[in-house]
Amino acid sequence: MESQNNLQCPHCKDYLNMNDQVILTVEKLIVEDSSRQKRGWAFLSSTPGKYEVTTHEHFPLKDGEKLMIFCPLCNRSLESKKYHGLCYLLLNNNRTLYFAPDKGKHATFIEENGKELQAFGAHASEYNHLFPGSQLSTTNAVACNTIRMHG
Ligand SMILES: [Zn+2]
Repeated sequence: MESQNNLQCPHCKDYLNMNDQVILTVEKLIVEDSSRQKRGWAFLSSTPGKYEVTTHEHFPLKDGEKLMIFCPLCNRSLESKKYHGLCYLLLNNNRTLYFAPDKGKHATFIEENGKELQAFGAHASEYNHLFPGSQLSTTNAVACNTIRMHG
């Protein structure tokens, strides 16, 4: 059992966390103020269900902002082809962590063996359609719901 959540890029397999923080490259789909930068780094918690994000003061992120997420080491997109609208990272070798890329969208999923799924975040149920047969609950924002997936 690893003592912390180690998160790896699914492409280059390099580690993207230091202790309990993850570094990701974030790109805004729309930049309203052209004096603001479009791409930057974001520090996030590696603990599922924690959604604090730290960015540079010249790269502020607003709730609802549409974002694309990239590996800061190999620059490849972390967008999931399996679950449309979510991004993903490898978690401690044998699990996959899926998360909603947009700022303020609190939805995280941990998939193990392609079957068992844990859901975190107040907006997790908005992604119900990706997991047919699942019963995600929004009653507790950081509660963990273990569900069985079909197939
Ligand atoms: Zn990478």
